Amino acid sequence: MTPVGPPATAAVEAVSEPTGTPRRLAPRADRIRADLEHFATLSEPGPGVTRLAFTELERAAHRYAAEELAALGCRVHTDVAGNTIAELPGSVAGAPAIGSGSHLDSVPSGGRFDGIAGVVAAVEVARLLAESDIRLRHPYRVVVFAAEEGARFGQACTGSRIVAGLTDSADLDRLTDHEGTTMAEAMRSVGLAPDRAGEARWDAADWLAFLELHIEQGSVLESSDLPLGIVDVISGSTRLEITLSGVASHTGGTPMHLRSDALAAAAELVLAAESLAWDSRHHGTRATVGRLTVLPGALTTIPGSVVLGVDVRDVDSVRQRATVREFLDHAAGVAVRRGVGFSHRLLADTSPVVLPAGLRAQLIGAAERTGTAYRVMPSGASHDSQMVNRVVPAGMLFVPSRDGLSHTPAEWTSVEQIVEGTAVLAEAVLGMDSADGLEPGPAQDGGS
Ligand SMILES: [Zn+2]
Repeated sequence: MTPVGPPATAAVEAVSEPTGTPRRLAPRADRIRADLEHFATLSEPGPGVTRLAFTELERAAHRYAAEELAALGCRVHTDVAGNTIAELPGSVAGAPAIGSGSHLDSVPSGGRFDGIAGVVAAVEVARLLAESDIRLRHPYRVVVFAAEEGARFGQACTGSRIVAGLTDSADLDRLTDHEGTTMAEAMRSVGLAPDRAGEARWDAADWLAFLELHIEQGSVLESSDLPLGIVDVISGSTRLEITLSGVASHTGGTPMHLRSDALAAAAELVLAAESLAWDSRHHGTRATVGRLTVLPGALTTIPGSVVLGVDVRDVDSVRQRATVREFLDHAAGVAVRRGVGFSHRLLADTSPVVLPAGLRAQLIGAAERTGTAYRVMPSGASHDSQMVNRVVPAGMLFVPSRDGLSHTPAEWTSVEQIVEGTAVLAEAVLGMDSADGLEPGPAQDGGS
């Protein structure tokens, strides 16, 4: 694939500025490209990147990041939940850390940038700091979260939930993949310790802030021709599993008026989710049926059972829950009218999160000092930062996604675009390190 954007122009070393101007760090395109290419090789065969949560491939990706960071002199460890954390010490004893990172797992046949771009950027900032004469007052900590994607176990952001104390060992025993493997079993199979998940919990006093660079996974930046987004709100997400139970029977022998067709009912629900989100009362809501399991799945048998996976996202928590209630009421009505059984199960439910305004101001300052055009924007996707923000103030930077695509092999962000975002990340780290106004404290959560 051809990278988009201008040719690489990044300087290859830290630029020293005249006295009185901010110190600048210039990310290196060659290192960022090499990291991205290496991570892309760690995949199951098939289109795109398949590196699922709590697999050997995910662990191999974490090991690569750990080795790169250890080579810089970082203290590196992997916690009991599989999160890899590396620290460059600061000059002030006991100062709370400035963190940055993202995740390295993918969805099946996903892209090579979702999560990876943020890890590569955070690692590159560590390299720039290690090779420069700049000594931060605060420790700089790179965090690679485990199991961010919900594709395998239905729960997103598992590694970051565990550090924030939002998921415990009981949840890890309860959640299963489609083969029936529990998350805890998968974790044990790669040498992790789900029973001790509580030990991975972060102490808020140990952190100043956490910054995550991520691909946008939408087309707002590309369509406005901007290289950078600064996130103000991360959407919440409610995920449901709905089971419709009809009667499986012969397609030739069963007259139309005597059928109880679970798939015909499901079809109504797929369209209902779509029209509900289109309704002007729900403007800004996204509702999707992304999974449909039809049984017995035979051409000549009326579908007897259908299981639907529904995802409702919103930046407004009240509207998010109202949409879910309205959808479930509608679904129950369809089931009664069509004479099929109806049940539902809540798979996951997270509120939208407003990220702290103070950190957003720091990121805006960094964008302005580096001369990077930006816009403040919401995130439609869930991210580790929304979990982290429960214990540590979190900020997010978006870099553009070509054609807005993500979770597909076509996902693409150019190396130059990641370099540009990484330069702002590095500048934000420097700015926060020297700012006195930002004290560690309880994180804000605007989503309750
Ligand atoms: Zn991601």
